[in-house]
Amino acid sequence: MGKDFFQKIKEGTSLKALNTMEIDCRPRFFVEIEDEEELKGAIEFAKRKEIPFFVLGGGSNVVLPKIYQGLVIYIDKTDFKIDSSNKDSVKVDAFSGARLPDVAKQITEAGGEGFEWAGGVPGTIGGAVRGNAGAFDSFVGDYTKSVEALNINTYKKKVFRAEECEFNYRNSFFKKNRDYIIWRVEMEFPLANKESKKFNEYLDYRKKNHPEEPSAGSVFENPRVEEGFFSSFPEMKKFKELGFIPARYLIESCGLKGKVDCGAKISEKHPNFIINNNNASGEGVENLIWEVKKRVKEKYGIDMKEEVEIVK
Ligand SMILES: Cc1cc2nc3c(=O)[nH]c(=O)nc-3n(C[C@H](O)[C@H](O)[C@H](O)COP(=O)(O)OP(=O)(O)OC[C@H]3O[C@@H](n4cnc5c(N)ncnc54)[C@H](O)[C@@H]3O)c2cc1C
Repeated sequence: MGKDFFQKIKEGTSLKALNTMEIDCRPRFFVEIEDEEELKGAIEFAKRKEIPFFVLGGGSNVVLPKIYQGLVIYIDKTDFKIDSSNKDSVKVDAFSGARLPDVAKQITEAGGEGFEWAGGVPGTIGGAVRGNAGAFDSFVGDYTKSVEALNINTYKKKVFRAEECEFNYRNSFFKKNRDYIIWRVEMEFPLANKESKKFNEYLDYRKKNHPEEPSAGSVFENPRVEEGFFSSFPEMKKFKELGFIPARYLIESCGLKGKVDCGAKISEKHPNFIINNNNASGEGVENLIWEVKKRVKEKYGIDMKEEVEIVK
């Protein structure tokens, strides 16, 4: 790794513009990497200094601290290729830093179906695969063919077939196993039967139903409950068909809509969003998360699980 690369490693950079919650996090070290060699160099730098490191994609699913005592590795490899030469599908080969809205738009324009929901999700392909992101009954994992990932211990790359990625609701092998950094992803989408309006319809839905203020999207997963839950809480029977209870409903019914802590606020428009209302700190967001967990557990006996990652 040349001397030039180490000059790219900066100290005291603000990540405010690189996370959708707009938290002014200052990591001890920060580096933007554009290729695999730089990724390996960044990991090696952190190991030599004996500090933790953290991969940042679109910063749209994280709650960052004021100071991160390690190296933040920002993946700035955003290219992707669309192959529409096939007669019944559209294929995509994307680096992990590729932006979901760009990829979703091009797939839809090429006639592919199934990724329209990602048009309004401000993350990257890497972050989306890790958390099996999805909406409107469609998930990244449904269309992933293979994932190429770098092992941070051996520096060797491995290609995972879809079934090895262990995709599940907001989960994957990569979320459970931090030894791998996703580098490249291949996906395939069936061709739509007719021209679809879903891309714009979903964008409109988000505009209407989600807060405009900075946020990290849905904070909690929608909890699945046992059959007996509905006997204890008959007012919840209306959600039985869904197979889960919407987190927003549980938060609202605990009277937490609009609650504020250190500039962070539980959105009134959609209570499963915590917004940056006024120079919020990660601590403020975290306090609200703990408050929700405590109150929902007390009232309904449900353990709420965060969808966002709280970085320490
Ligand atoms: C307005 C808004 C709407 C949203 N709507 C949705 C939605 O409809 N559905 C949904 O599922 N999510 C939604 N989200 C959440 C979020 O955008 C997605 O989960 C997204 O896929 C996260 O990607 P990211 O690149 O921003 O990840 P980041 O926030 O940067 O990182 C999240 C985690 O992934 C890890 N990570 C990132 N890149 C890699 C990589 N290459 N290899 C290994 N680990 C990596 C990070 O270390 C971190 O642990 C929304 C967020 C916002 C702000």
